[in-house]
Amino acid sequence: MKQSEIINKTEEYVLHTYNRFPLAVESGNGVRVRGADGREYLDFMAGIAVYALGYHYPGYDEALIEQIGKVIHTSNLYYHEPLAKAAEKVVRSTGLSKVFFTNSGAEAIEGALKAARKYAWNKTGRAGHEIIAMNDSFHGRSVGALSVTGNAHYRDPFKPLMGGVKFADYNDIDSVRACLTDDTCAIIMETVQGEGGIYPADPEFLAEIRRICDERDILLILDEIQCGMGRTGSMWAFEQYGIRPDILTCAKALGCGVPVGAFVLNEKAASGSLVPGDHGTTYGGNPFVLSAVSTVFDLYEANGITEHAAKAAGYLAAALDRLKDKYPCITAHRGLGLMRGLEFSVEVPAGKVAALALEKGLMIITAGGNVLRFVPPLVIEEADIDEAVSVLDSCIAELTA
Ligand SMILES: *Cc1c(COP(=O)(O)O)cnc(C)c1O
Repeated sequence: MKQSEIINKTEEYVLHTYNRFPLAVESGNGVRVRGADGREYLDFMAGIAVYALGYHYPGYDEALIEQIGKVIHTSNLYYHEPLAKAAEKVVRSTGLSKVFFTNSGAEAIEGALKAARKYAWNKTGRAGHEIIAMNDSFHGRSVGALSVTGNAHYRDPFKPLMGGVKFADYNDIDSVRACLTDDTCAIIMETVQGEGGIYPADPEFLAEIRRICDERDILLILDEIQCGMGRTGSMWAFEQYGIRPDILTCAKALGCGVPVGAFVLNEKAASGSLVPGDHGTTYGGNPFVLSAVSTVFDLYEANGITEHAAKAAGYLAAALDRLKDKYPCITAHRGLGLMRGLEFSVEVPAGKVAALALEKGLMIITAGGNVLRFVPPLVIEEADIDEAVSVLDSCIAELTA
């Protein structure tokens, strides 16, 4: 089909919940995408931090194809080898104890919230426990995940949402303390806020949150759906903070393209919460997606993907610092590893920069607060970074001329 036909048919039949970029993706190769328009694009958004290994990383397709030849779905009523293997890898990499696989990030959040409420129920023998979440957070679009998402625009039309949620300011420990009650059962936060505008947690803030949770036996849920899987230069961002969550949520790059998420619990949370009958999913963690997860962990280890990401991140950060110095309309540069943001002043909408970049062959997206968001494939090379930054340089020059 021609690109214009694809776009027109999509707009005619698909519910309009996204304002899509005017590009129909046909195929990908490495860190490049081919459009139905016949043009090639450098991908600096990786399917929203999903394609950590880029497209067709050697060994990835082969493993998935092999699994398709065996079985792709079993339900969770039977055992299968991809589940055994992927579970061991996820648990070992996190230093936690047990994992539950889901189909998406939002479902990983749902499971984590249920585990926290059940833990408190077991402990106190009653319901009605509260969860503290952060302003400007993003945890997903299902009703439970939306209930802990600190964004009024996303939430308001769907109220009443799940009750018992209080919102504190990210990186403001006093505002967290102000939300604490005897009924608090969990604190949920992103280790690095993504959608909210790329804000890493302050080390003192996260350390203090950990201390509060330990003192009061509150479960700390860290959402690393976007910042996990090597993106920040360590497998999990929390490793750089010298703490561990009680429950970790992951998704996005976990399967590097297939729909899969997980919530991972430490021994205390696992043994004190969900039991048979409490939670389930028909597809979640099926053999097909878990063959991908298992392969992703193998490929990361064999090829030093996280180490490469850390190195590339230093190069990207330096280039973005130079760009910020060059243009006064760039008001801030923040991030951790290969998860970075450039904040623009109001005269230059980040969305306009992203739209112009696409015309010039660069796929890049935005985040909240007029921020241009960098979540490229982790396999990005210095030459790719040079190319992307040079395209952005010309975009900003054009928009501020
Ligand atoms: C994307 C994202 C989610 C939601 O994941 P879905 O797979 O879209 O449901 C949750 N939390 C964070 C931090 C995310 O970036």
